[in-house]
Amino acid sequence: MKKVFLILVLFINCIFGQSKPYVILISIDACRWDYLSRGVSPTITKLKEEGASALTFQPSFPSKTFPNHLTIISGLYPENHGIISNNFIRLTDNKKYSMGDTSSVRDNEWYTGETFWETAHRNGIITASYFWPATEVHIKYKRPDYFYEYNRNTTSKEKIEGVKKWLELPYEKRPHLISLYFDQVDTQGHNYGPDSKEVNQALTEVDTAIFDLEEMIKKTNMADSINFIILSDHGMTSVSKDRVVNIEKILDDIKCSITNTGPVVFIQTEKGKESEIYQKLKSNENHFKVYYKNEVPDYLHYSKNPNIPQIVAIADLGWELSDNRGYAHLTSSTAKLGDHGFDNHSLDMNGIFLTNGPLFKKRFCTGTIWNIDVYPLLCKIFNIQPSSDEDGKLERIGFLLNNY
Ligand code: AMP
Ligand code: ZN
Ligand code: ZN
Repeated sequence: MKKVFLILVLFINCIFGQSKPYVILISIDACRWDYLSRGVSPTITKLKEEGASALTFQPSFPSKTFPNHLTIISGLYPENHGIISNNFIRLTDNKKYSMGDTSSVRDNEWYTGETFWETAHRNGIITASYFWPATEVHIKYKRPDYFYEYNRNTTSKEKIEGVKKWLELPYEKRPHLISLYFDQVDTQGHNYGPDSKEVNQALTEVDTAIFDLEEMIKKTNMADSINFIILSDHGMTSVSKDRVVNIEKILDDIKCSITNTGPVVFIQTEKGKESEIYQKLKSNENHFKVYYKNEVPDYLHYSKNPNIPQIVAIADLGWELSDNRGYAHLTSSTAKLGDHGFDNHSLDMNGIFLTNGPLFKKRFCTGTIWNIDVYPLLCKIFNIQPSSDEDGKLERIGFLLNNY
């Protein structure tokens, strides 16, 4: 009799698709790999210890927010998904992409890769997002089925309430992947530096939100079927007003345009002037490295995209690059104390990656996981065919799953 009942349950599961898993994907912006050992995040640390996790989570270059959130959700390097920086210019017509400009972030022409939202849509999997870069894009099948326009003042309570409502939807409308985003650890990391008490307080705040989320889930009948993936887009390192290089000053009066300030600076000039600029920077290469676009080291995967300019300068860890205007700002007494964007192989740029739930191994920890590999993991979890041009590889991450 018991056997018949079990078969019946399995049959009903198959018919109604109940076996499709639920995943909550949480991004804690700029939560460096080692922050969880500070003793200020008991909920996240417990989830990490009891589930399957990585010691560090390597972002892609440049270790910035928009490029990496797009990489995580597409399995593509920034040079392939198109968002090569938080802010950049399309070199063919000088049109600007900026993460702070809603009209550009919603414009599909910038996004050249397939995201998991689109893959899921094609496979009939409902998704939802309480913030994630590029989820507001104007084309319906390219964004989550449910999403919110970004508002950094949204409270954790509102986000949890939003997740609750999604989980309470009738089965045929209920999302199976829900993403959540928290910015406060990044904000305080920039303002006060990675070793500040403010960063620890921000992490505790996010930890409390995740505790409340778990408590809310316990009150639903879904607690045993929900899987968590908690990660960060990159880490954070200390910077100082005493470690800033003024690129414009080095270039003196050579005609060029310098875009971006911080760990990576783009230099664009008229044809014929490139080598003069390159040589000048090369002979002053102190605390940074200069590259022609096609010379950027292969391991950074940062030369293919047409919007990467002719010359790229990359600061050493903990240094900042700027033009004249940026220099005044970065050397002022109110300059930021933390930053990211540097070489993604630097340990300080590494983030966190942990999973917890019925799909994942228990008490398992591996070394470094790469963020390009999350997309193939999501495809495996939902048993769907990944897009053909992904850079990620399932074999580098799939072993976190029980049934791999
Ligand atoms: P970064 O300059 O790389 O540190 O970017 C972090 C900033 O990105 C945070 O201050 C967030 O407010 C902002 N941000 C994160 N997600 C979004 C989004 N979906 N839309 C607009 N801005 C965002
Ligand atoms: Zn970030
Ligand atoms: Zn940041």
